[in-house]
Parts: sequence; C-alpha cells; structure tokens
Amino acid sequence: MTDLAKDIQENQTIFGKILRGEIPADRVYEDDKILAFKDIAPKARVHVLVIPKKHLQCLRCATAEDADILSHMLLKVPEIAKKAGIDDGGFRLLTNAGPDSGQEVPHLHFHILGGEKLKGLNG
Ligand code: 5GP
Repeated sequence: MTDLAKDIQENQTIFGKILRGEIPADRVYEDDKILAFKDIAPKARVHVLVIPKKHLQCLRCATAEDADILSHMLLKVPEIAKKAGIDDGGFRLLTNAGPDSGQEVPHLHFHILGGEKLKGLNG
C-alpha cells in the first residue's frame, strides 16, 4: 500500500469518508492528488470544495514538503471553477484554518464560491 493510500484509509474526517467513497459527493474534478465536490450546504449559488487527498488538517499544518500539493490545488482552481460553470463571472476562494475561523472539518479545503454576485467582505 502506498503512503497516500494508507493516509486516505486512516483519515477519520467526513472528507476521508468522501475520499474513500463511503458517503456520496457530487464530484466536480478528481486527479491523483486532489478531489473537488459540491458543498452539501452551499453558501453561494455554486459552492465547491477542493481537498488534497493527503490528510493535512488545515493550512497551518502545511510545510515546505506540501508545496507541490498546495500549488497544484491553487493552479487547478480556475479549471474546477470552469467545470462548475462559474469561470466567466468569477469566483471567491477562501480557506478556514483553526478555531477562530470557524473551521468545521479538520481536513484542508478551499471553498470556491460563485454563480452569483457575492456580497463584499464588509457585508
Ligand atoms: P469549514 O467550515 O470547515 O471551512 O467548511 C466545511 C464545509 O464542509 C462546510 O461548508 C460544510 O457545508 C461542508 N460539508 C460538511 N459535511 C459535508 C458532507 O458530508 N458533504 C459535503 N459535500 N460537504 C460537507
């Protein structure tokens, strides 16, 4: 078994269950390093989550060793947004990290929000 396969097998978060196919998800994009799927409780008309297959709890846990996976996630975002049909209008990308942010799922994820005119960050 590869290190990544073991990592996925041992991932106790809800996103681990999605990675293993134990619970369904509306998948938008997948490759050997990342998975993108629709958020179950969308905060915009289109809301997609992008996760690494490697279990990193959040951005704070990433190290220089994770540079490849992080750049891959970022560089794939426009393609994933296009697949979700929101590349023309644009989108917002955000990630929560740690308790003050309200992070609920302890597996690094990028939120891609779009498909409508989003409110400004000042509300
Ligand atoms: P956080 O608050 O951790 O940044 O975001 C976690 C996100 O995961 C939330 O937007 C929440 O709706 C989403 N989520 C939680 N459980 C599930 C699930 O089982 N399936 C999907 N597709 N999204 C989920």
